[in-house]
Amino acid sequence: MFKRNKHGIQIKTPEQLQKMRAAGLVVGRTLELLRRSVQPGMTPLDLDAIAEKAIREEGAVPSFKGYQGFPATICASVNHEVVHGIPGDRRALREGDIISIDCGAILDGWHGDSAVTVAVGEVDPRLTELMRVTEEAMWRGIAALTVGGHLSDVGHRVERYVRSQGRYGIPQEYGGHGIGTEMHMDPWVANHGKPGRGPRLEAGMCLAIEPMVNLGTDRTKVLSDEWTVVTVDGRASAHFEHSVAVTHNGPWVLTALDGGEGRLAGLMGDAGR
Ligand code: MG
Ligand code: MG
Repeated sequence: MFKRNKHGIQIKTPEQLQKMRAAGLVVGRTLELLRRSVQPGMTPLDLDAIAEKAIREEGAVPSFKGYQGFPATICASVNHEVVHGIPGDRRALREGDIISIDCGAILDGWHGDSAVTVAVGEVDPRLTELMRVTEEAMWRGIAALTVGGHLSDVGHRVERYVRSQGRYGIPQEYGGHGIGTEMHMDPWVANHGKPGRGPRLEAGMCLAIEPMVNLGTDRTKVLSDEWTVVTVDGRASAHFEHSVAVTHNGPWVLTALDGGEGRLAGLMGDAGR
């Protein structure tokens, strides 16, 4: 019923990809709602409530809630928090913050997983640029998801773009992953490294591409809540993620409302370089 290739990577049928798309759209619409909702004075827990309601209203289930004991629907990581922040109500968002919101849902047994970093009101231009670089790096990585390419091309393109934009840190211990009937599946997808390595990309593979980029050092640590990952130098971090299917027509961005067409249009031509 669920096919895997020789590397143990789940390969979806076209019908299964349609179900992945339906799950992806639940996540995409939820994140769009959250992006529009963010404003000073709100708490991450307020955003969590909005997300859970939106996901359940679509007949889907929040995949993070209860995942290895995680207590919430979204991960909310503010400023120097990189990923896996637990949404709380002890500190309201302030003008000048950035917040990374990571969201996952299960619909009909299939998973979607996506993240955005959002500015709270007016933010420092360096943070705006950090978010731009991180999001663009994600799209460059997604553009590498072509049939016959290699898995490591993704991380290579992500890293090459980030390095071309300045002295940023790329945490090496976190990355993307296969996705399908579970949220985290093989293979792991690095955000750095050499091209042309690892398994060949095949139609029907689905991968979550998720660069994290830091303003300062690439070094991170986990707080005593055992979830929240922060930069060790306290400088800000951004995170963007999409779940993407490899198809014979190019990458299909399952968690993007337009399937990725808008952002990929200008990137696919020079994808090899
Ligand atoms: Mg995620
Ligand atoms: Mg993920």
